[in-house]
Amino acid sequence: VHPPETVLHAFREAVRTVPDRTALAYFDGHVSYRDADALSDGVAAHLAGRGFQHGDRLALMLQNSPHFVLALLGAWKAGAVVVPVNPMYKAGEVAHVLHDAEATALVCDERAWEQYLRATAADSPVRMVLTACERDLQSRDDPRVLDFERAAPAEDTDDLLTVARAGGTSPGGRELTGADTALISYTSGTSGTPKGAMNTHANIAYNAERQHTGLQLPDGACIFVLAPLFHITGMVCELSACVVGRGTLALAYRFEAGVVLDAFMEHRPAYTVGPSTAYMALAAHPHATREHFASFRHLSSGGAPLPPALVEKFGAGFGPYLSNGYGLTECTAPCASVPPGRQAPVDPESGTLAVGVPGPDTVVRIVDDEGRPVPLGEHGEITVRGPQVVPGYWRRPEESAAAVPGGELLTGDIGFMDADGWLYVVDRKKDMINASGFKVWPREVEDVLYGHPAVREAAVVGVGDEYRGESVKAYVSLRPGAAAVPQELIGHCRERLAAYKYPREIEILGDLPKTTSGKILRRELRSRGDSGK
Ligand code: ATP
Repeated sequence: VHPPETVLHAFREAVRTVPDRTALAYFDGHVSYRDADALSDGVAAHLAGRGFQHGDRLALMLQNSPHFVLALLGAWKAGAVVVPVNPMYKAGEVAHVLHDAEATALVCDERAWEQYLRATAADSPVRMVLTACERDLQSRDDPRVLDFERAAPAEDTDDLLTVARAGGTSPGGRELTGADTALISYTSGTSGTPKGAMNTHANIAYNAERQHTGLQLPDGACIFVLAPLFHITGMVCELSACVVGRGTLALAYRFEAGVVLDAFMEHRPAYTVGPSTAYMALAAHPHATREHFASFRHLSSGGAPLPPALVEKFGAGFGPYLSNGYGLTECTAPCASVPPGRQAPVDPESGTLAVGVPGPDTVVRIVDDEGRPVPLGEHGEITVRGPQVVPGYWRRPEESAAAVPGGELLTGDIGFMDADGWLYVVDRKKDMINASGFKVWPREVEDVLYGHPAVREAAVVGVGDEYRGESVKAYVSLRPGAAAVPQELIGHCRERLAAYKYPREIEILGDLPKTTSGKILRRELRSRGDSGK
Protein backbone atom coordinates (compact mmCIF):
# COMPACT_ATOMS: atom_id res chain seq x y z
CA VAL A 1 0.00 0.00 0.00
CA HIS A 2 1.51 3.33 -1.08
CA PRO A 3 -0.79 6.03 0.26
CA PRO A 4 -0.52 9.69 -0.69
CA GLU A 5 0.73 12.04 2.04
CA THR A 6 -2.85 13.26 2.59
CA VAL A 7 -6.16 12.96 0.75
CA LEU A 8 -5.75 16.63 -0.16
CA HIS A 9 -2.52 15.78 -1.98
CA ALA A 10 -4.45 13.10 -3.91
CA PHE A 11 -7.20 15.62 -4.67
CA ARG A 12 -4.68 18.11 -6.07
CA GLU A 13 -3.18 15.37 -8.22
CA ALA A 14 -6.65 14.59 -9.60
CA VAL A 15 -7.26 18.28 -10.32
CA ARG A 16 -3.93 18.41 -12.18
CA THR A 17 -4.41 15.22 -14.18
CA VAL A 18 -8.19 14.89 -14.75
CA PRO A 19 -9.62 18.42 -14.24
CA ASP A 20 -12.70 17.84 -16.39
CA ARG A 21 -13.70 14.56 -14.80
CA THR A 22 -16.82 14.74 -12.61
CA ALA A 23 -15.78 14.79 -8.97
CA LEU A 24 -19.27 15.10 -7.48
CA ALA A 25 -22.61 13.93 -8.86
CA TYR A 26 -25.71 14.96 -6.95
CA PHE A 27 -29.11 14.37 -8.55
CA ASP A 28 -28.79 16.36 -11.83
CA GLY A 29 -25.84 18.44 -10.65
CA HIS A 30 -22.22 17.67 -11.57
CA VAL A 31 -19.08 19.34 -10.27
CA SER A 32 -15.78 18.70 -12.07
CA TYR A 33 -12.47 18.33 -10.26
CA ARG A 34 -11.49 21.77 -11.58
CA ASP A 35 -14.64 23.38 -10.18
CA ALA A 36 -14.41 21.48 -6.92
CA ASP A 37 -10.89 22.86 -6.56
CA ALA A 38 -12.02 26.44 -7.23
CA LEU A 39 -15.03 26.16 -4.92
CA SER A 40 -13.04 24.66 -2.07
CA ASP A 41 -10.39 27.33 -2.63
CA GLY A 42 -13.18 29.83 -2.05
CA VAL A 43 -14.02 28.22 1.28
CA ALA A 44 -10.36 28.14 2.30
CA ALA A 45 -9.88 31.78 1.33
CA HIS A 46 -12.87 32.85 3.37
CA LEU A 47 -11.67 30.95 6.41
CA ALA A 48 -8.17 32.37 6.13
CA GLY A 49 -9.62 35.83 5.50
CA ARG A 50 -11.44 35.63 8.83
CA GLY A 51 -8.28 34.81 10.74
CA PHE A 52 -8.68 31.02 10.74
CA GLN A 53 -5.30 29.43 11.49
CA HIS A 54 -3.67 26.09 10.74
CA GLY A 55 -4.88 23.61 13.39
CA ASP A 56 -8.06 25.56 14.26
CA ARG A 57 -11.20 23.43 14.48
CA LEU A 58 -14.10 23.61 12.05
CA ALA A 59 -17.30 21.70 12.86
CA LEU A 60 -18.99 20.25 9.79
CA MET A 61 -22.63 19.36 10.32
CA LEU A 62 -24.28 18.44 7.04
CA GLN A 63 -26.02 15.55 5.35
CA ASN A 64 -24.44 13.94 2.27
CA SER A 65 -24.31 16.87 -0.12
CA PRO A 66 -21.67 18.47 -2.35
CA HIS A 67 -21.38 21.18 0.29
CA PHE A 68 -20.08 18.62 2.74
CA VAL A 69 -17.27 17.62 0.41
CA LEU A 70 -16.40 21.14 -0.72
CA ALA A 71 -16.41 22.45 2.84
CA LEU A 72 -14.22 19.54 3.96
CA LEU A 73 -11.67 20.10 1.19
CA GLY A 74 -11.74 23.87 1.74
CA ALA A 75 -11.26 23.43 5.46
CA TRP A 76 -8.31 21.06 4.94
CA LYS A 77 -6.81 23.53 2.47
CA ALA A 78 -7.00 26.15 5.24
CA GLY A 79 -5.24 23.70 7.59
CA ALA A 80 -8.37 23.03 9.65
CA VAL A 81 -8.97 20.10 11.91
CA VAL A 82 -12.49 19.08 10.88
CA VAL A 83 -15.00 17.96 13.48
CA PRO A 84 -17.83 16.03 11.80
CA VAL A 85 -21.14 16.44 13.65
CA ASN A 86 -24.24 14.36 13.08
CA PRO A 87 -26.90 16.74 11.68
CA MET A 88 -29.51 14.82 13.67
CA TYR A 89 -28.00 16.05 16.92
CA LYS A 90 -30.08 18.24 19.21
CA ALA A 91 -28.79 21.56 20.55
CA GLY A 92 -27.27 20.14 23.74
CA GLU A 93 -25.41 17.38 21.90
CA VAL A 94 -23.95 19.86 19.40
CA ALA A 95 -22.98 22.30 22.15
CA HIS A 96 -20.96 19.57 23.92
CA VAL A 97 -18.94 18.85 20.81
CA LEU A 98 -18.38 22.51 19.85
CA HIS A 99 -17.13 23.28 23.36
CA ASP A 100 -14.93 20.25 23.73
CA ALA A 101 -13.25 20.75 20.35
CA GLU A 102 -13.22 24.54 20.77
CA ALA A 103 -14.50 24.80 17.22
CA THR A 104 -14.31 28.39 16.00
CA ALA A 105 -16.03 27.76 12.66
CA LEU A 106 -19.22 25.87 11.90
CA VAL A 107 -20.69 24.71 8.61
CA CYS A 108 -24.32 23.62 8.85
CA ASP A 109 -27.59 23.88 6.98
CA GLU A 110 -29.75 26.94 7.29
CA ARG A 111 -32.61 25.18 9.00
CA ALA A 112 -30.47 23.81 11.82
CA TRP A 113 -28.86 27.19 12.29
CA GLU A 114 -32.15 29.04 12.40
CA GLN A 115 -33.98 26.47 14.48
CA TYR A 116 -31.58 25.79 17.27
CA LEU A 117 -27.93 26.46 16.67
CA ARG A 118 -28.15 30.23 16.64
CA ALA A 119 -29.52 30.19 20.19
CA THR A 120 -26.81 27.95 21.64
CA ALA A 121 -23.90 29.33 19.59
CA ALA A 122 -23.95 32.46 21.75
CA ASP A 123 -22.02 30.68 24.50
CA SER A 124 -19.94 28.48 22.25
CA PRO A 125 -16.49 29.23 20.82
CA VAL A 126 -17.93 29.52 17.28
CA ARG A 127 -17.04 32.82 15.61
CA MET A 128 -17.80 31.99 12.00
CA VAL A 129 -20.78 30.26 10.50
CA LEU A 130 -21.21 29.08 6.98
CA THR A 131 -24.63 27.77 6.06
CA ALA A 132 -25.55 25.62 3.12
CA CYS A 133 -28.84 24.79 1.47
CA GLU A 134 -29.86 21.23 0.95
CA ARG A 135 -30.69 20.05 -2.55
CA ASP A 136 -29.95 23.30 -4.29
CA LEU A 137 -27.08 22.46 -6.56
CA GLN A 138 -29.18 21.34 -9.50
CA SER A 139 -31.30 24.46 -9.36
CA ARG A 140 -28.44 26.94 -9.69
CA ASP A 141 -27.74 28.67 -13.00
CA ASP A 142 -24.04 28.71 -12.42
CA PRO A 143 -22.85 25.34 -11.20
CA ARG A 144 -19.61 26.87 -9.99
CA VAL A 145 -21.37 28.88 -7.33
CA LEU A 146 -21.23 27.23 -3.99
CA ASP A 147 -24.39 28.31 -2.32
CA PHE A 148 -23.20 28.75 1.20
CA GLU A 149 -25.73 31.31 2.34
CA ARG A 150 -24.92 34.17 4.61
CA ALA A 151 -25.71 33.54 8.22
CA ALA A 152 -24.56 34.78 11.58
CA PRO A 153 -26.08 36.16 14.74
CA ALA A 154 -27.64 39.47 13.75
CA GLU A 155 -25.69 41.39 16.37
CA ASP A 156 -22.45 39.99 15.09
CA THR A 157 -22.58 40.60 11.37
CA ASP A 158 -18.93 41.53 11.33
CA ASP A 159 -17.98 37.95 12.10
CA LEU A 160 -19.64 36.69 9.00
CA LEU A 161 -18.42 34.15 6.56
CA THR A 162 -20.06 35.12 3.30
CA VAL A 163 -20.82 33.40 0.04
CA ALA A 164 -17.86 31.46 -1.26
CA ARG A 165 -17.44 31.75 -5.02
CA ALA A 166 -15.26 30.10 -7.59
CA GLY A 167 -11.90 31.69 -8.14
CA GLY A 168 -11.00 32.38 -4.53
CA THR A 169 -7.30 32.09 -3.92
CA SER A 170 -5.76 29.49 -1.70
CA PRO A 171 -4.61 31.02 1.53
CA GLY A 172 -1.21 29.40 1.32
CA GLY A 173 0.38 28.95 4.71
CA ARG A 174 1.79 25.68 5.98
CA GLU A 175 1.21 22.61 3.80
CA LEU A 176 -0.57 19.70 5.47
CA THR A 177 1.42 16.61 6.38
CA GLY A 178 0.34 13.09 7.21
CA ALA A 179 1.08 13.66 10.89
CA ASP A 180 -1.44 16.53 11.14
CA THR A 181 -4.83 15.81 12.69
CA ALA A 182 -7.45 15.68 9.95
CA LEU A 183 -10.56 14.93 12.00
CA ILE A 184 -11.77 14.85 15.54
CA SER A 185 -14.45 12.16 15.49
CA TYR A 186 -16.62 12.20 18.59
CA THR A 187 -18.00 9.19 20.40
CA SER A 188 -19.66 9.57 23.75
CA GLY A 189 -18.03 6.62 25.41
CA THR A 190 -18.52 5.15 28.82
CA SER A 191 -18.19 8.36 30.80
CA GLY A 192 -21.17 9.97 29.06
CA THR A 193 -19.13 13.02 28.05
CA PRO A 194 -18.01 13.08 24.44
CA LYS A 195 -14.44 12.23 23.55
CA GLY A 196 -12.91 12.91 20.16
CA ALA A 197 -10.73 10.37 18.36
CA MET A 198 -7.99 12.20 16.44
CA ASN A 199 -7.76 10.68 12.96
CA THR A 200 -4.57 11.92 11.31
CA HIS A 201 -4.24 12.62 7.59
CA ALA A 202 -1.91 9.60 7.39
CA ASN A 203 -4.57 7.38 9.05
CA ILE A 204 -7.14 8.45 6.45
CA ALA A 205 -4.79 8.36 3.45
CA TYR A 206 -3.69 4.84 4.38
CA ASN A 207 -7.20 3.42 4.71
CA ALA A 208 -8.45 5.28 1.62
CA GLU A 209 -5.61 3.93 -0.53
CA ARG A 210 -5.96 0.49 1.01
CA GLN A 211 -9.66 0.49 0.24
CA HIS A 212 -9.17 1.55 -3.37
CA THR A 213 -6.29 -0.73 -4.26
CA GLY A 214 -7.44 -3.62 -2.02
CA LEU A 215 -10.76 -3.72 -3.85
CA GLN A 216 -9.00 -3.36 -7.22
CA LEU A 217 -11.28 -0.50 -8.21
CA PRO A 218 -10.36 1.02 -11.57
CA ASP A 219 -9.06 4.57 -11.88
CA GLY A 220 -12.00 6.98 -12.06
CA ALA A 221 -14.49 4.50 -10.55
CA CYS A 222 -17.76 5.96 -9.34
CA ILE A 223 -18.35 5.43 -5.63
CA PHE A 224 -21.84 5.88 -4.22
CA VAL A 225 -22.17 7.33 -0.72
CA LEU A 226 -24.53 5.07 1.22
CA ALA A 227 -23.03 5.70 4.68
CA PRO A 228 -23.33 9.13 6.27
CA LEU A 229 -20.28 11.25 5.43
CA PHE A 230 -20.11 12.50 9.01
CA HIS A 231 -19.31 8.89 9.99
CA ILE A 232 -15.80 7.63 9.56
CA THR A 233 -16.96 4.93 7.11
CA GLY A 234 -18.50 7.42 4.67
CA MET A 235 -15.61 9.83 5.10
CA VAL A 236 -12.89 7.25 4.48
CA CYS A 237 -14.24 4.27 2.50
CA GLU A 238 -16.38 6.38 0.20
CA LEU A 239 -15.26 10.03 0.01
CA SER A 240 -11.52 9.60 0.57
CA ALA A 241 -11.22 6.33 -1.38
CA CYS A 242 -12.96 8.06 -4.29
CA VAL A 243 -10.54 11.00 -4.28
CA VAL A 244 -7.54 8.68 -4.09
CA GLY A 245 -8.90 6.83 -7.15
CA ARG A 246 -9.68 10.13 -8.99
CA GLY A 247 -13.27 8.96 -9.23
CA THR A 248 -16.77 10.36 -9.16
CA LEU A 249 -18.51 10.55 -5.80
CA ALA A 250 -22.27 10.12 -6.21
CA LEU A 251 -24.39 11.51 -3.37
CA ALA A 252 -28.08 11.34 -2.52
CA TYR A 253 -28.48 13.47 0.61
CA ARG A 254 -29.91 10.95 3.07
CA PHE A 255 -30.83 7.29 2.75
CA GLU A 256 -34.17 6.65 1.06
CA ALA A 257 -34.32 3.30 -0.70
CA GLY A 258 -36.25 4.48 -3.79
CA VAL A 259 -34.02 7.53 -4.30
CA VAL A 260 -30.89 5.43 -3.88
CA LEU A 261 -32.06 2.85 -6.45
CA ASP A 262 -32.74 5.65 -8.96
CA ALA A 263 -29.28 7.06 -8.27
CA PHE A 264 -27.71 3.62 -8.90
CA MET A 265 -29.31 3.64 -12.35
CA GLU A 266 -28.22 7.18 -13.08
CA HIS A 267 -24.60 7.04 -11.87
CA ARG A 268 -23.79 3.33 -12.35
CA PRO A 269 -21.45 3.14 -9.34
CA ALA A 270 -18.75 0.49 -8.98
CA TYR A 271 -18.67 0.49 -5.20
CA THR A 272 -20.54 1.46 -2.07
CA VAL A 273 -20.51 0.65 1.63
CA GLY A 274 -23.33 1.05 4.11
CA PRO A 275 -24.95 -0.54 7.13
CA SER A 276 -26.76 -3.86 6.75
CA THR A 277 -30.10 -2.12 7.34
CA ALA A 278 -29.62 -0.07 4.17
CA TYR A 279 -29.20 -3.29 2.18
CA MET A 280 -32.26 -4.79 3.86
CA ALA A 281 -34.30 -1.75 2.83
CA LEU A 282 -32.94 -1.85 -0.73
CA ALA A 283 -33.65 -5.58 -1.06
CA ALA A 284 -37.18 -5.10 0.25
CA HIS A 285 -38.00 -2.23 -2.11
CA PRO A 286 -40.70 -3.30 -4.61
CA HIS A 287 -38.80 -1.76 -7.56
CA ALA A 288 -35.39 -3.30 -6.83
CA THR A 289 -34.07 -5.44 -9.69
CA ARG A 290 -30.77 -7.08 -10.63
CA GLU A 291 -30.21 -4.25 -13.09
CA HIS A 292 -29.96 -1.74 -10.23
CA PHE A 293 -26.89 -3.56 -8.92
CA ALA A 294 -25.36 -4.58 -12.25
CA SER A 295 -22.68 -1.86 -12.23
CA PHE A 296 -21.24 -2.82 -8.84
CA ARG A 297 -17.87 -4.55 -8.60
CA HIS A 298 -18.19 -4.64 -4.84
CA LEU A 299 -20.78 -3.99 -2.17
CA SER A 300 -19.68 -3.74 1.44
CA SER A 301 -21.46 -3.66 4.73
CA GLY A 302 -19.83 -2.39 7.90
CA GLY A 303 -20.44 -0.91 11.31
CA ALA A 304 -22.81 -3.59 12.56
CA PRO A 305 -23.25 -7.37 12.35
CA LEU A 306 -24.18 -8.62 8.89
CA PRO A 307 -26.71 -11.48 8.98
CA PRO A 308 -25.54 -14.37 6.73
CA ALA A 309 -29.15 -14.77 5.50
CA LEU A 310 -29.03 -11.24 4.05
CA VAL A 311 -25.81 -12.03 2.17
CA GLU A 312 -27.48 -15.09 0.63
CA LYS A 313 -30.68 -13.28 -0.17
CA PHE A 314 -28.78 -10.43 -1.77
CA GLY A 315 -26.60 -12.65 -3.91
CA ALA A 316 -29.55 -14.77 -5.05
CA GLY A 317 -31.85 -11.83 -5.71
CA PHE A 318 -29.52 -9.18 -7.07
CA GLY A 319 -26.21 -10.73 -8.07
CA PRO A 320 -23.36 -9.10 -6.17
CA TYR A 321 -21.74 -10.64 -3.13
CA LEU A 322 -22.38 -8.42 -0.10
CA SER A 323 -19.13 -8.42 1.80
CA ASN A 324 -18.59 -7.77 5.48
CA GLY A 325 -16.06 -5.38 6.97
CA TYR A 326 -15.06 -4.45 10.49
CA GLY A 327 -13.69 -1.29 11.96
CA LEU A 328 -14.05 1.47 14.50
CA THR A 329 -13.73 5.22 14.50
CA GLU A 330 -10.46 4.70 16.40
CA CYS A 331 -8.99 2.74 13.50
CA THR A 332 -10.29 5.18 10.90
CA ALA A 333 -12.93 2.74 9.53
CA PRO A 334 -11.89 -0.72 8.38
CA CYS A 335 -9.11 -2.86 9.79
CA ALA A 336 -10.48 -6.17 8.46
CA SER A 337 -12.39 -6.90 5.26
CA VAL A 338 -13.18 -9.70 2.83
CA PRO A 339 -10.62 -9.85 0.00
CA PRO A 340 -12.14 -9.56 -3.49
CA GLY A 341 -13.13 -12.87 -4.99
CA ARG A 342 -13.50 -14.58 -1.60
CA GLN A 343 -16.53 -15.21 0.56
CA ALA A 344 -16.54 -14.94 4.33
CA PRO A 345 -17.21 -18.21 6.17
CA VAL A 346 -19.92 -18.60 8.82
CA ASP A 347 -18.93 -19.94 12.24
CA PRO A 348 -21.02 -23.13 12.61
CA GLU A 349 -21.25 -22.77 16.39
CA SER A 350 -22.53 -19.20 16.70
CA GLY A 351 -23.89 -18.69 13.17
CA THR A 352 -21.75 -15.51 12.94
CA LEU A 353 -20.38 -14.38 9.61
CA ALA A 354 -16.63 -13.63 9.63
CA VAL A 355 -15.96 -9.88 9.36
CA GLY A 356 -12.92 -10.40 7.14
CA VAL A 357 -9.17 -10.83 7.39
CA PRO A 358 -6.92 -8.09 8.77
CA GLY A 359 -5.45 -5.82 6.11
CA PRO A 360 -1.74 -5.63 5.25
CA ASP A 361 0.46 -3.81 7.79
CA THR A 362 -2.30 -4.51 10.35
CA VAL A 363 -1.82 -6.77 13.34
CA VAL A 364 -4.98 -8.03 15.02
CA ARG A 365 -4.64 -9.95 18.28
CA ILE A 366 -7.17 -11.63 20.54
CA VAL A 367 -6.24 -11.13 24.17
CA ASP A 368 -7.51 -11.99 27.65
CA ASP A 369 -8.22 -9.48 30.43
CA GLU A 370 -4.50 -9.27 31.23
CA GLY A 371 -3.61 -8.53 27.61
CA ARG A 372 -2.14 -12.01 26.98
CA PRO A 373 -2.90 -13.65 23.61
CA VAL A 374 -5.51 -16.43 23.86
CA PRO A 375 -5.12 -19.73 21.93
CA LEU A 376 -6.41 -19.79 18.35
CA GLY A 377 -10.19 -20.08 18.15
CA GLU A 378 -10.80 -18.86 21.71
CA HIS A 379 -12.72 -15.74 22.53
CA GLY A 380 -11.03 -12.58 23.80
CA GLU A 381 -10.84 -8.85 23.22
CA ILE A 382 -9.83 -7.80 19.71
CA THR A 383 -6.84 -5.45 19.52
CA VAL A 384 -5.54 -3.63 16.44
CA ARG A 385 -2.16 -2.18 15.60
CA GLY A 386 -1.51 -0.53 12.24
CA PRO A 387 -1.18 2.66 10.22
CA GLN A 388 -4.91 3.40 10.54
CA VAL A 389 -4.99 3.44 14.37
CA VAL A 390 -5.43 6.90 15.90
CA PRO A 391 -2.76 8.26 18.25
CA GLY A 392 -5.46 8.98 20.85
CA TYR A 393 -8.28 11.29 21.90
CA TRP A 394 -8.31 15.07 21.75
CA ARG A 395 -7.06 16.48 25.06
CA ARG A 396 -7.75 13.21 26.92
CA PRO A 397 -4.33 11.75 27.80
CA GLU A 398 -5.73 9.28 30.32
CA GLU A 399 -8.41 7.86 28.02
CA SER A 400 -5.83 7.74 25.19
CA ALA A 401 -3.38 5.75 27.28
CA ALA A 402 -6.16 3.36 28.32
CA ALA A 403 -7.57 2.82 24.82
CA VAL A 404 -4.38 2.81 22.73
CA PRO A 405 -1.61 1.64 25.09
CA GLY A 406 1.68 1.64 23.20
CA GLY A 407 -0.14 2.25 19.91
CA GLU A 408 -2.28 -0.92 20.12
CA LEU A 409 -6.03 -0.21 20.09
CA LEU A 410 -8.19 -2.10 22.56
CA THR A 411 -11.44 -2.32 20.64
CA GLY A 412 -13.81 -3.38 23.43
CA ASP A 413 -15.15 -6.00 21.00
CA ILE A 414 -15.02 -9.71 21.77
CA GLY A 415 -14.06 -12.01 18.95
CA PHE A 416 -11.91 -14.88 17.75
CA MET A 417 -9.69 -15.79 14.86
CA ASP A 418 -9.93 -19.13 13.01
CA ALA A 419 -7.08 -21.22 11.62
CA ASP A 420 -7.43 -19.59 8.19
CA GLY A 421 -7.02 -16.08 9.59
CA TRP A 422 -10.69 -15.04 9.44
CA LEU A 423 -11.78 -12.70 12.23
CA TYR A 424 -15.19 -13.01 13.92
CA VAL A 425 -16.90 -10.47 16.20
CA VAL A 426 -19.22 -12.22 18.63
CA ASP A 427 -19.88 -9.87 21.53
CA ARG A 428 -18.87 -6.62 23.19
CA LYS A 429 -16.99 -5.86 26.36
CA LYS A 430 -18.09 -2.23 26.19
CA ASP A 431 -21.61 -1.08 27.00
CA MET A 432 -22.25 0.46 23.60
CA ILE A 433 -25.55 -0.28 21.82
CA ASN A 434 -25.42 -0.74 18.05
CA ALA A 435 -28.72 0.29 16.43
CA SER A 436 -28.37 -0.10 12.63
CA GLY A 437 -24.71 0.91 12.87
CA PHE A 438 -25.54 4.02 14.90
CA LYS A 439 -23.77 3.80 18.22
CA VAL A 440 -25.57 4.69 21.45
CA TRP A 441 -23.71 4.89 24.74
CA PRO A 442 -26.05 4.04 27.65
CA ARG A 443 -24.44 6.55 30.00
CA GLU A 444 -25.42 9.52 27.81
CA VAL A 445 -29.08 8.41 27.71
CA GLU A 446 -29.05 7.62 31.43
CA ASP A 447 -27.71 11.13 32.20
CA VAL A 448 -30.67 12.60 30.32
CA LEU A 449 -33.10 10.34 32.21
CA TYR A 450 -31.55 11.36 35.55
CA GLY A 451 -32.31 14.97 34.50
CA HIS A 452 -36.05 14.19 34.85
CA PRO A 453 -37.35 15.02 38.36
CA ALA A 454 -39.30 11.75 38.69
CA VAL A 455 -36.35 9.44 37.99
CA ARG A 456 -34.54 7.77 40.90
CA GLU A 457 -32.50 5.16 38.98
CA ALA A 458 -32.00 4.56 35.27
CA ALA A 459 -30.24 1.88 33.25
CA VAL A 460 -30.18 1.77 29.48
CA VAL A 461 -29.51 -1.42 27.55
CA GLY A 462 -29.67 -2.73 23.98
CA VAL A 463 -32.35 -5.31 23.26
CA GLY A 464 -32.66 -7.46 20.14
CA ASP A 465 -34.49 -5.85 17.22
CA GLU A 466 -35.15 -7.68 13.99
CA TYR A 467 -34.51 -4.68 11.75
CA ARG A 468 -32.03 -2.51 13.65
CA GLY A 469 -30.07 -5.38 15.20
CA GLU A 470 -30.47 -3.71 18.58
CA SER A 471 -32.77 -1.03 19.93
CA VAL A 472 -32.51 1.19 22.98
CA LYS A 473 -34.51 0.26 26.07
CA ALA A 474 -34.46 1.94 29.49
CA TYR A 475 -35.34 0.57 32.90
CA VAL A 476 -36.24 3.20 35.43
CA SER A 477 -37.27 3.36 39.08
CA LEU A 478 -39.11 6.43 40.33
CA ARG A 479 -38.63 8.73 43.31
CA PRO A 480 -41.10 8.16 46.13
CA GLY A 481 -44.39 9.86 45.31
CA ALA A 482 -43.41 10.55 41.66
CA ALA A 483 -45.83 9.48 38.97
CA ALA A 484 -44.19 9.62 35.55
CA VAL A 485 -45.46 7.38 32.77
CA PRO A 486 -43.04 5.81 30.26
CA GLN A 487 -44.40 7.97 27.41
CA GLU A 488 -43.51 11.14 29.30
CA LEU A 489 -39.96 9.93 29.95
CA ILE A 490 -39.55 8.93 26.30
CA GLY A 491 -40.67 12.43 25.30
CA HIS A 492 -38.15 13.95 27.72
CA CYS A 493 -35.33 11.98 26.03
CA ARG A 494 -36.60 12.63 22.55
CA GLU A 495 -36.41 16.39 23.06
CA ARG A 496 -32.78 16.19 24.12
CA LEU A 497 -31.24 13.37 22.07
CA ALA A 498 -30.79 12.54 18.38
CA ALA A 499 -33.56 10.30 17.05
CA TYR A 500 -31.48 7.12 17.04
CA LYS A 501 -30.54 7.50 20.73
CA TYR A 502 -33.78 7.95 22.63
CA PRO A 503 -35.27 4.80 24.23
CA ARG A 504 -38.00 3.23 22.14
CA GLU A 505 -39.29 1.55 25.27
CA ILE A 506 -39.12 2.38 28.97
CA GLU A 507 -40.09 -0.06 31.67
CA ILE A 508 -40.69 1.18 35.19
CA LEU A 509 -39.57 -1.15 37.96
CA GLY A 510 -39.82 -0.82 41.74
CA ASP A 511 -36.05 -1.26 42.04
CA LEU A 512 -33.35 -2.03 39.50
CA PRO A 513 -31.41 -5.30 40.05
CA LYS A 514 -28.04 -4.64 41.72
CA THR A 515 -24.94 -6.41 42.96
CA THR A 516 -24.33 -6.51 46.69
CA SER A 517 -22.08 -3.47 46.26
CA GLY A 518 -24.98 -1.54 44.70
CA LYS A 519 -23.89 -1.64 41.03
CA ILE A 520 -26.78 -1.96 38.58
CA LEU A 521 -26.78 -5.36 36.85
CA ARG A 522 -26.91 -4.33 33.25
CA ARG A 523 -26.50 -7.83 31.85
CA GLU A 524 -29.49 -9.04 33.83
CA LEU A 525 -31.59 -6.21 32.43
CA ARG A 526 -30.37 -6.95 28.92
CA SER A 527 -31.41 -10.60 29.09
CA ARG A 528 -34.71 -9.58 30.67
CA GLY A 529 -35.28 -7.19 27.71
CA ASP A 530 -34.33 -9.83 25.15
CA SER A 531 -36.67 -12.40 26.59
CA GLY A 532 -39.47 -9.81 26.46
CA LYS A 533 -40.20 -10.01 30.18
P1 ATP B 1 -17.05 0.97 10.75
O1 ATP B 1 -15.87 1.80 10.45
O2 ATP B 1 -16.77 -0.48 10.74
O3 ATP B 1 -18.23 1.26 9.93
P2 ATP B 1 -18.18 2.73 12.63
O4 ATP B 1 -17.87 3.81 11.72
O5 ATP B 1 -19.62 2.44 12.88
O6 ATP B 1 -17.47 1.38 12.21
P3 ATP B 1 -17.87 3.13 15.42
O7 ATP B 1 -19.06 3.98 15.48
O8 ATP B 1 -16.64 3.49 16.15
O9 ATP B 1 -17.38 2.98 13.95
O10 ATP B 1 -18.33 1.67 15.80
C1 ATP B 1 -17.44 0.63 15.83
C2 ATP B 1 -18.10 -0.59 16.44
O11 ATP B 1 -19.08 -1.11 15.54
C3 ATP B 1 -17.14 -1.72 16.65
O12 ATP B 1 -16.42 -1.58 17.85
C4 ATP B 1 -18.07 -2.93 16.65
O13 ATP B 1 -18.67 -3.10 17.92
C5 ATP B 1 -19.14 -2.53 15.67
N1 ATP B 1 -18.89 -3.12 14.35
C6 ATP B 1 -18.28 -2.53 13.30
N2 ATP B 1 -18.26 -3.36 12.23
C7 ATP B 1 -18.87 -4.49 12.61
C8 ATP B 1 -19.16 -5.74 11.95
N3 ATP B 1 -18.86 -5.96 10.68
N4 ATP B 1 -19.78 -6.71 12.68
C9 ATP B 1 -20.10 -6.50 13.98
N5 ATP B 1 -19.88 -5.35 14.64
C10 ATP B 1 -19.27 -4.36 13.98
